[in-house]
Amino acid sequence: MSLLQKTIRADVQATNAYVVAPSAGMLKLDAMENPQGMPAALLDKLAQQLKTAELNRYPAPKALELEAALRACTAIPKAAHVLFGNGSDELIDLIIRACCMPGDAVLSPVPTFVMYAVYSQWSHARFVGVDLNPDFTLNMPAMLKAISTNQPKVVFLAYPNNPTGVALREAEIVQIIEATPGLVVVDEAYEAFADASFMARVLEFPNVLVLRTFSKLGLAGARLGYAVASPAWVEQIDKVRPPYNVNVLTRIAVQFALEHFDAFEAQAKLLREQRDVLTESLKNLKTPNGDVEVFDSYANFVLFRIPNALEVFDALKNKGILVKYVGKAHPLLQNCLRVTVSTEQENQQFLVAVQQSIDEVA
Ligand code: PMP
Repeated sequence: MSLLQKTIRADVQATNAYVVAPSAGMLKLDAMENPQGMPAALLDKLAQQLKTAELNRYPAPKALELEAALRACTAIPKAAHVLFGNGSDELIDLIIRACCMPGDAVLSPVPTFVMYAVYSQWSHARFVGVDLNPDFTLNMPAMLKAISTNQPKVVFLAYPNNPTGVALREAEIVQIIEATPGLVVVDEAYEAFADASFMARVLEFPNVLVLRTFSKLGLAGARLGYAVASPAWVEQIDKVRPPYNVNVLTRIAVQFALEHFDAFEAQAKLLREQRDVLTESLKNLKTPNGDVEVFDSYANFVLFRIPNALEVFDALKNKGILVKYVGKAHPLLQNCLRVTVSTEQENQQFLVAVQQSIDEVA
């Protein structure tokens, strides 16, 4: 056994790094990014503002101006506090680290966003996945039983869920909150595309935190997420936050975006409309045995099931189109592909290519 093998944690050695598929030159429909980019006139203005960044200084300890801009655009309850993170990914990690000692349970319906389980593992927490029903709705009796058996410190509810696009019912969220002995995180990464949010009720219960991100709205490259909860929860989770975790360039860029938020909201509206068109078009795909299952989505992606999904994924890749094959991630996702909603023209390009790919591999 080499020095490195004796030194690096065995579970780290046994794990693969988070894989981001190479995408240079491809139509990238695998990561729920906003394809539209910032309008050119706004980009020019932002460039002016970025010149004011004091890159020789650490960021101010509290991003107060950013928070004020956020509160002006988003209905965050006044008495709630906000914690910013380097993407909501970082906040997921911080929440688990602040709550869990080794062996403590973190619970979530599955399939769901993979980082809940990954960060649990790095904290030596015990991730408990509770299978959704085959139509990806919540199996409430199983959830309540698992909560009662495992007494989780943290429950993650992606609302809407990734990769299914399905949104829980609000009454189910409340039932889970009331049954959970720890913190319930309502992860609203896709809120801009959903008709629902739990934000207004975040202070109604003693154990809720709402998580949001700017990634899906058109600022994935800026890496900014935020948590909203009562001051006491934020104060504790803030203790495990690395200093200066949100850099000065990100603060300026996102504050600028918030000051021009109508442009981003308009883009999100367009994607919602395109999602509905794409969903209907996917239902019309012709497969060898006629089977196409398309799941209605409340997010900026659509999950669908077709025969030979892995082969279709490869054929699409050969045509320069990257989607996400999720068929191996969970038994309920067998033969499923997830595609990000894009512009009308790119969606059309994808639809033609996916039908060709299905025909090729049949
Ligand atoms: N939550 C959910 C449900 C997600 O799907 C994602 C990204 N795919 C994230 C959180 C993380 O987003 P980010 O770190 O870019 O804010």
